Amino acid sequence: MAAQESKRARVTRMHDEYDRLCAFIPVTKCQLDYTTPFELIVATVLSAQTTDKRVNSVTPALFAQYPDADALAQANIADVESIIRVLGFYRMKSKHIIELAQALVARFGGEVPHTMDELTSLPGVGRKTANVVLGNAFGVPGFPVDTHVIRVTGRLGWRDTAGKPSPEAIERDITACFPREEWTDLSHRLIIFGRSVCTARAPQCAWCPLNDSCPSAGDFLGAAPATNRAHTSAKRARASAKRTATCTR
Ligand code: SF4
Repeated sequence: MAAQESKRARVTRMHDEYDRLCAFIPVTKCQLDYTTPFELIVATVLSAQTTDKRVNSVTPALFAQYPDADALAQANIADVESIIRVLGFYRMKSKHIIELAQALVARFGGEVPHTMDELTSLPGVGRKTANVVLGNAFGVPGFPVDTHVIRVTGRLGWRDTAGKPSPEAIERDITACFPREEWTDLSHRLIIFGRSVCTARAPQCAWCPLNDSCPSAGDFLGAAPATNRAHTSAKRARASAKRTATCTR
């Protein structure tokens, strides 16, 4: 279905589906526990290749021992390794967060910077981590693209799936269709949805709130792909039209 859908129809469907995601997941928040930008950037670096829950299990002890960049910059790596040992790649991650803290101290007075360019200049910090920090610690709209966002936006046909688009290309495509102020919550909702409903191995299409319009529903239900339904709610249509006007694609 997605291949025959016009670009405008796709964007309208994206907005309709996002409205339903907002109703399904009314409250969003970063799943990592943190109290300062420093804690968030460290927790986000630690979250690579593991779950937020597991990161949250080690960060209280880590931040009790190393509450700021100054303290972590001077840490003994073996001590850090012993605290975060339950995480995958704990040796490499220990090295990365100490180097990150040292760079914060050396170049930013121990503070976490507020811009994408500065954040991505730090060791171990890519666009995904920078977007998490910008959106959650500083209120600067950001759209982190993780494995859930990649999977869910692909299954929903919110973007072109030909080839293997980079996270940067996906970020560009999706954010072009939503107002900036929605980017952070949009990413949160897609991640929560990907963890709870549209999971990697067993998507719950039978009761998914988007199964009437998702082009991939039939792949998992063993039925023909769903056809996009006309919008029945005037309110929903108005909201979609409003967002469509902001799309820059
Ligand atoms: S219908 Fe299935 S594939 Fe589509 S978004 Fe829902 S859970 Fe994912």
